[in-house]
Amino acid sequence: MIIFGTRGIKSKIKSGNFICPQCETDRKYDHKKVTKFFTLYFIPLIPLGSAGEYVECKTCKGTFIPRVLNYQRTQSQNQQQQQDQFLSEYEKAMKHSLVLMMLADGEIDDREMVVVLMVINKFGHNDITMEQLENYVAETQRNPQNVSTYLKKVGPMLNEHGKQMLIKCGLAVAGADGVIDDSEISVLYEMGLAMEMKKSEVKTLLEEAQKKQNASV
Ligand SMILES: [Zn+2]
Repeated sequence: MIIFGTRGIKSKIKSGNFICPQCETDRKYDHKKVTKFFTLYFIPLIPLGSAGEYVECKTCKGTFIPRVLNYQRTQSQNQQQQQDQFLSEYEKAMKHSLVLMMLADGEIDDREMVVVLMVINKFGHNDITMEQLENYVAETQRNPQNVSTYLKKVGPMLNEHGKQMLIKCGLAVAGADGVIDDSEISVLYEMGLAMEMKKSEVKTLLEEAQKKQNASV
């Protein structure tokens, strides 16, 4: 008796990462193809054509139609949106912190205004004009929201370098009029606190800046 039949053989087309609909997070997948074979004594001999494709999550072993991979494009659009949103929050936080820093000692120095404008335009995405900055300063004077208002939202998402960068920008503004006074130092520590930095970290940066300032006097 001759035993023959057909059998589906799976082969991997490609693999990568996708957002598994079942795990609802980033996972590794295999994109597989099933080819039907004519078998003789259970040995696949002649390929009879494709019997379909599917995507398998390597973690939960769930299988999905290949279209699930198209969903990834939407996902990266979301990531882009999140990134844009983060950047705009970051800019807001920086602008707000620097203006509060400038207002800390009770007077607005022209040199401070210039430094704030320079820093904002160096790190920001959207350049602002001196007039826009003046308007923002006036607005902040009317409604002086705490330094942590915006900083608290972005701080925890920044790495050490990003946090130190913001403190250094604050220091540049604080030192623009020639002295870093106590009110400015307390804003600096508030900035650090809002970003969940260690007090000692802020202190080190402050001391470095003071050393530089003394050297230049
Ligand atoms: Zn999964």
